[in-house]
Amino acid sequence: MTYQNYSLKQLQAIDAAHHLHPFTDHKELRGIGSRMITRADGPFIYDSEGKEILDGMAGLWCVNIGYGRSELADAAHAQMKELPYYNNFFKCSTPTPTLLAKKIAELAPKNINQVFFGSSGSEANDTAVRLVRHYWALEGKPQKNRIISRQMAYHGSTIAGTSLGGMEGMHGQLGGAVPNIVHVMMPYAYELGLPGESDHDFGLRAAKAVEDAILEAGAENVAAFIGEPIQGAGGVKIPPASYWPEIQRICRKYDVLLMLDEVITGYGRTGEWFAAQSMGIEADTITTAKALTSGYQPLSALLVGDRIASTLVEKGGEFYHGYTYSGHPVACAVALKNLEIIEREGMVERVKNDTGPYFAEKLQARIAPHGLVGEVRTFGFLAAIEIVKDKKTRERFMEPGSAAVTIRDHAIANGMMLRATGDTMIMSPPLIWTRDTIDMACDRLLMALDLAEADLRRKP
Ligand code: PMP
Repeated sequence: MTYQNYSLKQLQAIDAAHHLHPFTDHKELRGIGSRMITRADGPFIYDSEGKEILDGMAGLWCVNIGYGRSELADAAHAQMKELPYYNNFFKCSTPTPTLLAKKIAELAPKNINQVFFGSSGSEANDTAVRLVRHYWALEGKPQKNRIISRQMAYHGSTIAGTSLGGMEGMHGQLGGAVPNIVHVMMPYAYELGLPGESDHDFGLRAAKAVEDAILEAGAENVAAFIGEPIQGAGGVKIPPASYWPEIQRICRKYDVLLMLDEVITGYGRTGEWFAAQSMGIEADTITTAKALTSGYQPLSALLVGDRIASTLVEKGGEFYHGYTYSGHPVACAVALKNLEIIEREGMVERVKNDTGPYFAEKLQARIAPHGLVGEVRTFGFLAAIEIVKDKKTRERFMEPGSAAVTIRDHAIANGMMLRATGDTMIMSPPLIWTRDTIDMACDRLLMALDLAEADLRRKP
């Protein structure tokens, strides 16, 4: 590594000259210059100027075991020396993806015993769409191929991922989506609940939107419903408890497959290994990535339920789909070690029984009363903070998203990384956060809220 020979200004100039960033307004970024994150340790990231920042997002919802785990580096090193790469085509396999698939099957809900590997969540969702449509074709129902998704869903950035997702801005740049995907309302009671409607009733109404979409298309034309158990990038939208069991009932009633996207919620974030277990539901496919390796290597796993898997095996015929890096041995070796650490350190149980409840309690007690906060929602180690101008009427600040960005910028300046999506601040800490780390996060966040309030109320 020779980046230390460059000044921040030099690195920023090179970055601007050559590096196109994801989800970025390049004109805006060139005016500012990137913050260079150069190292990380435990719950902290550090920039090139030595500034310490508490990482309230676990990178991008992925570094569940925190930074600086040399055991993962050792696992990658050992695997690279023994077998850096071989594919799983040509009737070959390699030991690490084989053993990782077994491990994932052991942790997954009972009806899931098969795994298809890719390198990213987007790829895994592409696999899921192709697999579900292939399943119905094998079952002699090729016309049963419509997929129902939701507004503001995020399922990745490939063409299929963008089509599945419900982000209007992304659709606008798509120039032609994958056909036969429709989007229904999201279970977001804070904005879509009716006056006087209970959370329970709202959850049933939001689920009914899925039933309506099935009836409109005709159940014989609907392959599957896909949803994130908790909508992440769309603003940590936590559905009422009535929602998912009702979705399950509707899917079963019309023989529609249930696809869960657990790219964010998988591997402990909700206080169970998978949110399917938190919600008490069974899915036919579960998309996972991110925390499978805690982000130390790019790897995704599509978990495939027995119903689909047994048809694939019984009917036979090649499924024309796969990636060069499906089951990459180094990424899989890192994943095996990562899962071992999560288990060994009891992280999932800790989030469920100790730090998760403490996180919820402290955010409700310390952040929710703030004048800029309309609502705080939490589930396990996920949180959303709704930003409003007026707590009582829930009126937002004029320019959508600007208030949240002001808070985020103050937060980063005060040593706390969290994300702004629209008028919602979101948090997704590493599972290693202790009660002390949660207290530190609340201190830094409160300071950012106070500073932002002074700025925002000063504006005309
Ligand atoms: N699904 C969900 C729910 C996600 O949050 C993401 C990424 N944030 C993806 C899919 C796409 O994953 P990737 O960026 O690894 O392609």
